Amino acid sequence: MMNSQIKKIGRNIIIICLGIMFSGYVSALPEDKRWPDFLSEEEVSFLQEHPVIRFRVRSRIPPFEFVRDGEATGLAVDYIRLISKQVGFQAVFVADDRPLKEAFNEIEQRRKDFDTLTYTVKSPERAARFSFGEAFLSYPIVVIVNKDSPPIFKVTDLNGKVVSLETGYLTNQWIGDDYPQLQIANVPTTEQALLLVNNGVADAYIGNLAIANYMIVNGRMDKLKVAIPTKYKNIDFSFIAPKEWSVLTSIMNKGFRSITAKQHSALQLKWFTVQTVEQTNYGPALYIFVTAIFIIVLFFWWNMKLAFQKQRADKALSELLHVKASLEKKNGELEKISTTDSLTNLYNRGKIEKILVTEFERVRRYGGNLAIIMADVDHFKSINDTYGHQVGDLVLVNIARLFESRVRRVDSVGRWGGEEFLIVCPNTGLEGAFHVAEGLREGVEQVKLGVAGYRSVSLGVTEYYTGDSTATIIQRVDQALYQAKIEGRNKVVFKPLPDALKPSEASRV
Ligand code: GH3
Ligand code: MG
Ligand code: MG
Repeated sequence: MMNSQIKKIGRNIIIICLGIMFSGYVSALPEDKRWPDFLSEEEVSFLQEHPVIRFRVRSRIPPFEFVRDGEATGLAVDYIRLISKQVGFQAVFVADDRPLKEAFNEIEQRRKDFDTLTYTVKSPERAARFSFGEAFLSYPIVVIVNKDSPPIFKVTDLNGKVVSLETGYLTNQWIGDDYPQLQIANVPTTEQALLLVNNGVADAYIGNLAIANYMIVNGRMDKLKVAIPTKYKNIDFSFIAPKEWSVLTSIMNKGFRSITAKQHSALQLKWFTVQTVEQTNYGPALYIFVTAIFIIVLFFWWNMKLAFQKQRADKALSELLHVKASLEKKNGELEKISTTDSLTNLYNRGKIEKILVTEFERVRRYGGNLAIIMADVDHFKSINDTYGHQVGDLVLVNIARLFESRVRRVDSVGRWGGEEFLIVCPNTGLEGAFHVAEGLREGVEQVKLGVAGYRSVSLGVTEYYTGDSTATIIQRVDQALYQAKIEGRNKVVFKPLPDALKPSEASRV
């Protein structure tokens, strides 16, 4: 008995525990959809029936509604997203750019593609067709003109001028009615209307300051300015719903009112301040661009400077080379003048002496042969005396040419003085030089020297011996010449060293 009682108590305890556990489990389950307290039963049941509301979003009405990277965005879209979270429905945004008129028809009749709009401007005609909620966005209507256009002080200053306006917008209707003298250019979008003004095609745009400001700030239209406000007060954007969904507009109103001041300012900041910060910061790019331009300009300037300096240096160098060349030429000419006998054009005494010294040194150092020939015109004085000095000169010139033509290429002919010539014959022995001298003698003998007729030369020949100096070798050749004169002229006499003075063959280098 006791046992069964204990069992009963145990069973009850288990049941109670299970009950507690179950109730805990239930409370831990995600709560069935919770609705905010401010919603009425009717509103909650509407949301239960319509958990998803589809809003049409136009792709290019920044900052209110537009499509960026395939996603609906903008201030109005953000407000509806926030409201949908606060009240508890899913907002779906459908990109659709059909004219407003068609969009109205869609929500009024078909509601196939979307249920309603994000916002619209209320008018009596629209109020008759749709359910309107609160005006949740409000901006003034202003006149926007091109920065280059003349100033205006009132809308009528635009009479006769082209004003671009969006087709189907209420402003279009109001302005058309109030200012019949304006030429209205109808375009599909605000952007296009503003572009016409920006590009100078239209004179002005009349519309929402917020949109115009957004476009101006975002740099897409840099030539626009706000000219004057209009008589139209603020343009109000209100929630809108199909006529039979008036409960949705009251839900939107309540959701909007539940938004805190902090949330409001966060959204306003996002679209009217942060947005301008988010736009491309051209600062660093501009800095890099300007720096790059500066560097390029500097580079070109420096290159030009270098090229100019190089050109100047090249010119100076070429002038220098030219001067050097002409100096060298002059030096060569001077050298020639200083080493040439002016009458015969042969080497002068100084030069032939130098050649003799050079050859003498060479043979003294390195060995080998060196011979010299001294020639003297026979009875030259009589030519001068008979035919005059000029004929004598001519004879000297002719003999000089003849000597030049008869000696070998290696031999040097110089005028020793008066009618005497010295021929230096390197690498030549006594015998070889004798033949050269003989050739010269014969040559003169056989040639008629103008009026002076046939003439002759006497020649002395000698060669280098070890122990010679330029003085002794000249002295010896002179002696040979003297001997030729003595022996009857028109003759070659060679003068070797006396045997007693001759070094042995072995000692000769
Ligand atoms: P020899 O056969 O002994 O050598 O008799 P020569 O008349 O040739 O010798 P001499 O030394 O008596 O005379 C040389 C003359 O040459 C004297 C001088 O007036 C003349 N003479 C020297 N230099 C020149 C010159 O450049 N032009 C002319 N026309 N005559 C010169
Ligand atoms: Mg003489
Ligand atoms: Mg003579």
